[in-house]
Amino acid sequence: MFDIEKIRADFPILKRKVNGYPLVYLDNAATSQTPQLVIDSIVDYYSNYNANIHRGVHTLSQEATDAYEQARQKIRHHFNAEHAHEIIFTSGTTHGINLVANGFSSILKTGDEIIVSALEHHSNIVPWQMLCERTGAVLKVIPMNMEGELIMDAYDNLLSENTKLVFVNHISNALGTINPIKEIIQKAHDVGAAVLIDGAQATPHIKADLQALDVDFYVASAHKMCGPTGAGFLYGKEDWLNKLPPYQGGGEMIAEVSFEKTTYAGLPHKFEAGTPNICGGIAFGIAIDYMNAIGFDNIANYENELLKYATDKLLEIDGLKIYGPDVSGAKTSVISFNIEGIHPYDIGSIVDKLGVAVRTGHHCAQPIMDFFKIPGTVRASFAFYNTKEEVDTLVVAVKRAKGMLS
Ligand SMILES: *Cc1c(COP(=O)(O)O)cnc(C)c1O
Repeated sequence: MFDIEKIRADFPILKRKVNGYPLVYLDNAATSQTPQLVIDSIVDYYSNYNANIHRGVHTLSQEATDAYEQARQKIRHHFNAEHAHEIIFTSGTTHGINLVANGFSSILKTGDEIIVSALEHHSNIVPWQMLCERTGAVLKVIPMNMEGELIMDAYDNLLSENTKLVFVNHISNALGTINPIKEIIQKAHDVGAAVLIDGAQATPHIKADLQALDVDFYVASAHKMCGPTGAGFLYGKEDWLNKLPPYQGGGEMIAEVSFEKTTYAGLPHKFEAGTPNICGGIAFGIAIDYMNAIGFDNIANYENELLKYATDKLLEIDGLKIYGPDVSGAKTSVISFNIEGIHPYDIGSIVDKLGVAVRTGHHCAQPIMDFFKIPGTVRASFAFYNTKEEVDTLVVAVKRAKGMLS
């Protein structure tokens, strides 16, 4: 069923060496690697049916349009959206959040409140701050505890009839915390607020069911789930997408244009101005097929095993502290850690010399680092194509770094 050697053979990059050592790629929370199937789909597109979509009657244009719309159907199906036109292609999570934040400019007024969490990526903070500046709305923050979990009682206290919108990530990219989004969504709906979930870090690990969640907006990026960069999607409930104004004007998003008046196209085209990343969207669909063929249950089981193994091994190192929930809690395969007295950047540089790719720094989540009063962490994030042997290599490399630096 889950044949790790076979899976690894699908990823050409895993064969390469870095600084003379076999690559150990543990930066999956920043971007995932790309299987040959997905790479082939990109080559196939440009080799065989590259054409602009939706506008041409010629064969290539129809083939490209069909493949692109088929990818939209795959996304709809995978995440269980009710309609394909509720899936808007974007360049990624950041684009999707900005699209929604821009749309709420014409909905919010002074004194309205919007709620974010203390666990967010900058891309789910800054667009909302900009929205507050434009509208006079007020930004409130759900705090977290020392385990890196949201304090739900505090959330209850923030909610009121003034709350118009809540936006929280499904899983924290910095700590791996899985947030109780079902509860967050329900409570927001109880006061009449809409909810946007940033699914960028969840989609590689969990198959979200958008209708069961009853979420209003959900955004994610292809490049974190074995797809290419520059592609992603925004899901919005039909009613909401009809309510929001277009984000960008241009070709493809109009019904009729004259210099006196322009009328907009229906969904999803209203939000898809200009020539999109056609081949990226198609490749995203192939990546979803690929991950489903492996199976999200298999992926979750295997990654949990890796997470537990890596946590135990790393904690054997003296002075090493892991931030975020305990492995037995609601957590995915991200380990954010520091070693007492050593700067995370120095650890990252030394382990790279040994072929191990980890991320160091604030992980686009400075408020989390401020909360723990640290400059950053070393973050090892695992995918289903990583192995226990790679964890062992990480541990040896971290021990070596510690020996050199302390
Ligand atoms: C990666 C990530 C983002 C940003 O995604 P982009 O693809 O850079 O737009 C936002 N939120 C979370 C939780 C992420 O992990």
